[in-house]
Amino acid sequence: MIDDSYILKCSGIEKSYKLGRITIPVLKGVEFEVARGSWTALLGASGSGKSTLLNLLGAFEKADSGKIIYDGKSYSEMKRNDLVIFRRRRVGFIFQSFCLLPELNVIENIELPGRMTSVPRKKIRARAAMLLEKVGLSHRIKHRPNELSGGEQQRAAIARAMINQPSLLLADEPTGNLDSKTGEGILEIFNELHSGPEPVSIIMVTHDRNVASMADGIVELKDGVVVR
Ligand code: ADP
Ligand code: MG
Repeated sequence: MIDDSYILKCSGIEKSYKLGRITIPVLKGVEFEVARGSWTALLGASGSGKSTLLNLLGAFEKADSGKIIYDGKSYSEMKRNDLVIFRRRRVGFIFQSFCLLPELNVIENIELPGRMTSVPRKKIRARAAMLLEKVGLSHRIKHRPNELSGGEQQRAAIARAMINQPSLLLADEPTGNLDSKTGEGILEIFNELHSGPEPVSIIMVTHDRNVASMADGIVELKDGVVVR
């Protein structure tokens, strides 16, 4: 029987980078689970491998060894093409530097990942408008990213990450470029997203213990392994 109380299970994840003839081990057997609908903080010092791990979880990169199982399916058993589709439909990404496209306005940025699917345009627009409302940006629909504050840009990026109704949100230092008050607003949105009727699971990378304490649980990385 498949135990579906976990959306994600990782075991024995190893990853190293090669620089010339030198091999730098980054992850040395990472193990942890993420309960469905939970908000997990991935905590660790700078250089501890948090972003590396997040990229593996988002199937952007391949682990050297170990297993990542999402919704009962192992990444290593999925074909490359399936992984691309899977990533687009099931996972939302949020970055420290927002990564909005400067030439598109807010609603166009939010719609963009939706337009790479077969969902009708009208439906995507309606969902984008609903998400803008949810993140408190309904009054900024036609603004370009450079006309927004950092906090507003991150709100737009969260809405974009949610456009395809992913079951998992991966956020890499989402409050890292924001002052603490603005950062709190972003964490409040995460709190709402994972406590609604259809909660999304969130994995949030941070080096800040205070930020991490907002989540339901903390997975701490140190020297390439999970220490708690
Ligand atoms: P964190 O996000 O916790 O700050 P990273 O995952 O970015 O840590 O990096 C972990 C280690 O891996 C660092 O020592 C970094 O220099 C190294 N590293 C990350 N990405 C690469 C890469 N593409 N090539 C070589 N080394 C890398
Ligand atoms: Mg990082």
